Amino acid sequence: MLQPSERILTARKRIFLGLLILAFTILLVLVTLLGWVGTVGLRQIHPLLPAIGLTVSTVGFAVLSGIMVLLVLTIMLERELPFTRNLRGLVIKVFLPVMVFIGRLLGIPRDTVNRSFIEINNQLVLSRHLKVAPDRLLILLPHCLQDADCQRKITTRISNCARCGRCVIDELLALAERYGTRIAVATGGTLARKIVRDYRPRVIIAVACERDLTSGLHDTYPLPVYGILNRRPHGPCWNTTVDVARVEHAVKTFIDHRPADALPDTRKIGQPQDEPR
Ligand code: SF4
Repeated sequence: MLQPSERILTARKRIFLGLLILAFTILLVLVTLLGWVGTVGLRQIHPLLPAIGLTVSTVGFAVLSGIMVLLVLTIMLERELPFTRNLRGLVIKVFLPVMVFIGRLLGIPRDTVNRSFIEINNQLVLSRHLKVAPDRLLILLPHCLQDADCQRKITTRISNCARCGRCVIDELLALAERYGTRIAVATGGTLARKIVRDYRPRVIIAVACERDLTSGLHDTYPLPVYGILNRRPHGPCWNTTVDVARVEHAVKTFIDHRPADALPDTRKIGQPQDEPR
């Protein structure tokens, strides 16, 4: 039985999937039309060209159909299928702008498409069943989670937080300490990119609004980023908060508590002492 929150996630996924299937259908119709027009028009130029045009459009049709079926199956089955490693990149770099465009034509707000895209991205990340050492997981937070009246400079060093409990930073720091993960606060894309370069995480759990999460996913690809939307009871960018239980659930999903020497080589790159705290 799905929990209410899971039902919402499924509904969110449906928006992006629906737009995706619509876009693919339009593309398939276009490819078929182009193939047909080509066979008629190209005959005047050279007798072999119609056959070449038909072959190209048939291959295009098959490739597009294959990508669509793989993508939908990966999301529905919630596990990685053969040849799907680069699907997330395709979704982020190619499909998202198309979905936003089609969404606009259909009157679907950009934030709604972005929310749906974030859920699809999360599903594709989860389908890889990644497990990393706790210190290779970075929890990346937006500055707006900090209490607006707090004078502590937590963007330079989150440990500057006095742990007064007035905002959710206190709870998130306790969470990171409990599980031994990295945690940082970024004021924008430039600082976020610098933090990612310095910490060299293998998985990121990013908290932000729809717009920042979407651009962050784009900037950090191919790093696996699991996105969690912040809550904005006072409007955007002001004293926002986040569901800490959801962040904790994500942390538990991705971390591997085995000793470092029992981890596969790919998880040992960069020991804690090599990286900034
Ligand atoms: S918990 Fe307190 S000290 Fe820490 S960032 Fe929030 S308001 Fe500032």
